[in-house]
Amino acid sequence: MVLAVKGTRDLFGTELQWFQWIESICHRCMQCHGYSEIRTPILEELEVFKRSVGESSDIINKEMYDFIDKGGRHVVMRPENTAGVVRAAIQHKFFETSDPKRLYYIGPMFRYERMQAGRYRQFWQIGAEIFGASTPETDAENLTLLFDFLNELGLKNLMLSINSVGTPESRPAFYSAFREFFDKAESQFCSDCHRRILENPLRVLDCKVPKCQVALEGHPIITDFLDEESCKHHERLKDLLTALHIPFAENSRLVRGLDYYTRTAFEVLSSDLGAQSALLGGGRYDGLVKQLGGPDVPGFGWAIGLDRLAMLMQTIHGDAQRNTPTILIPMGETAATKAIVLAKELWKAGIPIQLETRNVPLKKALQTANRQGFQLALILGDSEIEQGVLTAKDLTKGSQETWNLDTVAEKLKAILQLAYTD
Ligand code: AMP
Repeated sequence: MVLAVKGTRDLFGTELQWFQWIESICHRCMQCHGYSEIRTPILEELEVFKRSVGESSDIINKEMYDFIDKGGRHVVMRPENTAGVVRAAIQHKFFETSDPKRLYYIGPMFRYERMQAGRYRQFWQIGAEIFGASTPETDAENLTLLFDFLNELGLKNLMLSINSVGTPESRPAFYSAFREFFDKAESQFCSDCHRRILENPLRVLDCKVPKCQVALEGHPIITDFLDEESCKHHERLKDLLTALHIPFAENSRLVRGLDYYTRTAFEVLSSDLGAQSALLGGGRYDGLVKQLGGPDVPGFGWAIGLDRLAMLMQTIHGDAQRNTPTILIPMGETAATKAIVLAKELWKAGIPIQLETRNVPLKKALQTANRQGFQLALILGDSEIEQGVLTAKDLTKGSQETWNLDTVAEKLKAILQLAYTD
């Protein structure tokens, strides 16, 4: 038997139903806030990520699915989508005017990660980006979209964790204070941090190794080194978040794994995920468009993992509802013709129903229906057709009643409506 490639998986059943539900809410929410969808290729030139994500990041260092294609191009299966969206926006001249652009995406990403629960080598992300506006109001608008989306998914116990990582101009002052601090406690940090302090000191703050987190006690705080504009931006954003009732907490160690963030960096924590777990992250990336060869256009955005979100939906809401709770079972050839015609009418009216198309005894058909989790079986035999009725059997309660054939659509609609308002 050939299995799916390690770290990848097939999506089906309940998990996929949650994916689809989340995606439908995402499309509605994004469009309501004026964001349009963009779909970029999975394969990008290596250059797109080298220039954006940053060579010191784990993504570039350890996790890239990259190869030389048959034409000798060095390509990457995208590990994230912001860089690809920026590449596409430059290529299609979205930035020819200075108007703000609001874009969102849904799709698979690839990272060669060490296997652990909830982390895959092919996983899905939803993301939203806004380009062309650098005000704190822009950050707040995009965060409101995020919180509206999460609330619509039924997530309530959320906390926004924020920091400001300043600008490339304001960072050197922090770096020198931080390097001085690091040098004094050098031996207490892991070998990765010794590399990071040279390549990108901010990433030391992000290190997940417990001894490094301890060694960081009393480290210089990046927000104490901000330039005046970044400082104003940060303070104003906090005021806006308060006005919007978005719960937030400052976290001076939050820097995010990617190199391109400027000013605001954030994560959203959900207590539904267990102790202090980050559901997603994002931030401002004012230099990224220019870094990728475009004009000097600011940007802000976030990406959320769909795999984790689907898992969370299952925990919060229980099993997804069957798309088709009803099965129509005909007995005999005449009934089979009548049933397929009736099913066609119901489908046309948008009423979900599944048809038993095998010619099997009623007992077997009902056993299958029970096993597959149907809630209602509509049974149609020759005698019922003569009387213009069918038998509606409630498979959860075991009770049954007789329905007139011309009221089936109406009755099913009423049942479905009740199920959706429960
Ligand atoms: P990042 O792009 O690293 O900021 O990740 C954003 C979100 O994507 C994370 O919060 C996760 O929910 C999700 N994510 C990142 N990597 C993986 C992975 N290997 N498997 C599943 N989800 C992931």
